[in-house]
Amino acid sequence: MRGRHMHSRRLRDLEARLDDTERKVDQLENTLCGVVRELNEVSIAGPCKCGKALLIVHQQTVYCPQCQYRRTI
Ligand SMILES: [Zn+2]
Repeated sequence: MRGRHMHSRRLRDLEARLDDTERKVDQLENTLCGVVRELNEVSIAGPCKCGKALLIVHQQTVYCPQCQYRRTI
């Protein structure tokens, strides 16, 4: 009985944290889109192979802000 209670509390806690994380990701995405709109020469491409960031396209160059990946297009 006590164990089950603990389990559902942990689940509720995880759900709350997931909701919070989703909200933060949405906020970051919307803010990033707004910033990119302001900067005409910058755009965002798909995720980098390192998995830590999305690629930034700027002046014919695609690069990752988190790893060394960089290539000219
Ligand atoms: Zn990378």
